Amino acid sequence: MNIYDHFRNESLYPDLDVDGACSRLSAAVRLKTVSDCEDPAPFLELHELMKSSFPHIMAAGGFETVGRSVLIRVPGSDSSLRPALFMSHQDVVPVVKGTEDDWIHGAYSGDIEDGIIWGRGTQDIKEQVFAELEAAEYLLSRGLKNARTIYFAFGEDEETFNRGSKALSDLLFSRGERLEFVLDEGGGGIQSGELLGAPGLSVMPIDLMEKGYADLKLSVKSTGGHSSRPWGGTSLGRLARAIDRIVSAPFPAELCSTFKQSLRTVAPYIKDPKLAELLSDVDANAELIAASFMESKDLFPFVTTTIAPTMISGSSDAPNVMPQNMEAVINFRIAAGHTPEEVMEHCRKAVDDDSVSMEFLQANPASAEARFDGFGYAQLIKALDSFYGDVVFVPFMSVGATDAHNYEQICDTCLRCSPFVSTEEEEKGVHGTNERISVRSYAQGIRVLISLMKESCGFAR
Ligand SMILES: [Zn+2]
Repeated sequence: MNIYDHFRNESLYPDLDVDGACSRLSAAVRLKTVSDCEDPAPFLELHELMKSSFPHIMAAGGFETVGRSVLIRVPGSDSSLRPALFMSHQDVVPVVKGTEDDWIHGAYSGDIEDGIIWGRGTQDIKEQVFAELEAAEYLLSRGLKNARTIYFAFGEDEETFNRGSKALSDLLFSRGERLEFVLDEGGGGIQSGELLGAPGLSVMPIDLMEKGYADLKLSVKSTGGHSSRPWGGTSLGRLARAIDRIVSAPFPAELCSTFKQSLRTVAPYIKDPKLAELLSDVDANAELIAASFMESKDLFPFVTTTIAPTMISGSSDAPNVMPQNMEAVINFRIAAGHTPEEVMEHCRKAVDDDSVSMEFLQANPASAEARFDGFGYAQLIKALDSFYGDVVFVPFMSVGATDAHNYEQICDTCLRCSPFVSTEEEEKGVHGTNERISVRSYAQGIRVLISLMKESCGFAR
């Protein structure tokens, strides 16, 4: 599949300053806003870069910071319209030590060569921060004014704690703001529909929810001793048994309303007659569909809470010495509509052993499911459809986590979609080596955002 075959209307907005946009993104990439960086300087420099790069936004709006996170408000002329919020995050993940030399262009070089912008943050996700600002600057600098108030919100720690976005959302909440829709990173890209049983179909996912997350620590105490007298078993044995009991007690398989909508959307394109029959009535066949997806290595994470034992520690240093206190961690990705409390209850019941203690190291429930029948979703699809052809836009869900869920308290339409389309090779740069984006992809994403902002926020002279 050549992704560029799907591009259309690249000649729209011919006066878009693509070279300027690329050099501004390049400048942003050169600032090492790594999420675990203690020095605030790179973030402060990034704020200055935003201010100096987008004079019309700064003239029309207010720029404020909460910690290192940024909130920009561009007031609209019609206060009866609920604001739209365009977001993303400023932080990037570090480059893995020892892999610096594997980069063709330095990880923080921001080099632009042969139509490619190189560096950490060009895929995840400074391109969305800057493209959102480019879009608004484009419209405002042409003398257009927005009817709907626009917010830009850029968190500082999406890759670690998601506290920045929470603080921004709390601030808006305390000011009584309620939003029409939120657009954050996620989804986007063009993929084969094969995963959903529609090979030959090209799909673009729009993520409407994120699964929840929990790290459960299991601890077993023991004084150890000589392994020739293992009366009652060892701590390792009891811990292993507890883990086995948890993984042997899977959570139920269910279709959430978002995933049901995913399936309804692809149903007309399904080739396999058995699956087509099942998807002809998703509601009536929900249980059968969920059960059959549990058998698929690729699909089961979308229909259940997953269980992944990941860490164990405390084993004995010698074969003839019994281990003392031992610990293990199990990572759960919690299905829509479920909570960490339910996970805990489920595990206690499965283990059924009071000598195994359990606590969460961190845990958050699954996000709410965003509306797909409202204004924000329809506007986003309309904008994407203008610039990407022969693609079916599919409401979808993310098994990872991002900042968007923090805005649920003030918005029922938190959409996760990055409007850039990259090659598979380029996408491998996310959290990896040789992260890069093509100038064509970046420019096309900016066009989508200009179109979305113009229509949904009522820009006019
Ligand atoms: Zn990201």
